[in-house]
Amino acid sequence: MHPTDTIAALATARGAAALAVVRVSGPEAVRIAASRFEGANLTGVPSHTAHVGFFLDEEGHRLDQVVATVFRAPRSSTGEDVVEVTCHGGDLAPQLVLRSLLDAGARPAAPGEFTQRAFLHGKLDLTQAEAVADLIHARSGLAHRVALAHLQGRYGEAVGRLRAALVETTALVELELDFSEEDVAFAHRDDLAALLQEADHLLTTLLDSARLGALVRDGVRVVLGGRPNAGKSTLLNALLGHDRAIVSETPGTTRDAVEAEGELGGLRFVFVDTAGLRATADAVEAEGVRRTHRAIAGADALVYVFDATVGLDEDEQAFLDRLAGEKPALPVVPVANKVDLLPPGGVQSGDALALSAREALAEPARLASLRQALLDAVTPGLADAEGSGVVVNERQRRHLADAHEAVRRAQAALDAGVSGDRLALDLRAALGALGAVTGAVTNEDVLDAIFSRFCIGK
Ligand code: GDP
Repeated sequence: MHPTDTIAALATARGAAALAVVRVSGPEAVRIAASRFEGANLTGVPSHTAHVGFFLDEEGHRLDQVVATVFRAPRSSTGEDVVEVTCHGGDLAPQLVLRSLLDAGARPAAPGEFTQRAFLHGKLDLTQAEAVADLIHARSGLAHRVALAHLQGRYGEAVGRLRAALVETTALVELELDFSEEDVAFAHRDDLAALLQEADHLLTTLLDSARLGALVRDGVRVVLGGRPNAGKSTLLNALLGHDRAIVSETPGTTRDAVEAEGELGGLRFVFVDTAGLRATADAVEAEGVRRTHRAIAGADALVYVFDATVGLDEDEQAFLDRLAGEKPALPVVPVANKVDLLPPGGVQSGDALALSAREALAEPARLASLRQALLDAVTPGLADAEGSGVVVNERQRRHLADAHEAVRRAQAALDAGVSGDRLALDLRAALGALGAVTGAVTNEDVLDAIFSRFCIGK
């Protein structure tokens, strides 16, 4: 499985910059870089040393002054010989250095190929390799921190340890099958039961974290609902700090759902401002109302805005009650808006958060309690998420779910005293799925699919 060719690519972003890094990795990396380097003889220098010199083209012309850093296998990011050439940034110098390396025998790296090589040489497991891609694509602060935690091997290690323990036990159970005539037991059933329980616990925790992981990955969808003119658009603008939604005095103007993105507590939030919920003869607006219902169907939370000077009327209460029955898991945050219009002491908002969206436009800090209520509503486990590692990746979640099912089947088989071969089958299935999570068991198609998500140079 170990690559025999040498790859090169620009590791930093294109465009104006003080410096850029061109990376070469593979068995010929040092020889190729040395052939284009004027300065120390790179083939003779120790690992982890940096050398100032000139980078040359095929004819020996100087292209740029650079620093060449040599890392020898296996102590490098890919596990192969690596030379990192730090040259001047901008559009020209990095391209000239790269072209010279390619002319000298390196091949252009495919997307993610450096990381793939790190995986092949055991530098990273798959959860970590995928974290590299997630880091590149992370769109919010929390997504970034979670990806970083994975890069440090958070739950990949725990899964790896569990798998190692299961491998041993499975081997013992299978050994019994060979001696089935003799009625011997190598695997202690109590130990096996304890191990399966441990597996059940770990997998349950990881799968629970996947719901949170989806929010980290895809963002949180919050629908703003309520009667026309309750102040939804104003509240949306206040939440975002700029005029994204159209605010108007005429009820029913927000006919299309308006979407806007913001970051809250390190999570990416998508706020959807909907047409007001109002029974109406106006066909266009009726369509808007249908859209509200559709928007709620795909939402992670509903902020229900009503006018505090009017209060929630019967229809609205009925709507909210019906929603609670139909979608008990959907968090609803009621907001009593326009409290600036009430006389002092006149606020009676019940469970709702009392605020003035109009005042919050000028002073966003006034929405601190709404922001907190929203975060608490959608992500109860947020505080623990960073430390323990969260399953943000759908591929990993699927394999963990398969492993969990197999573990549950094995537990049932054990309880029922089913024959060893059934048990061994379930244990094997669990092992396969766990191996797929970290990449201990995998195939080339899967690897190609994963690493093609990367950008070139990673
Ligand atoms: P929507 O139809 O629910 O989106 O309501 P809008 O945000 O368009 O607001 C309707 C009207 O109420 C506009 O004239 C807003 O300026 C006004 N409004 C919104 N929030 C407040 C508030 O907190 N206080 C006061 N006094 N007026 C508000």
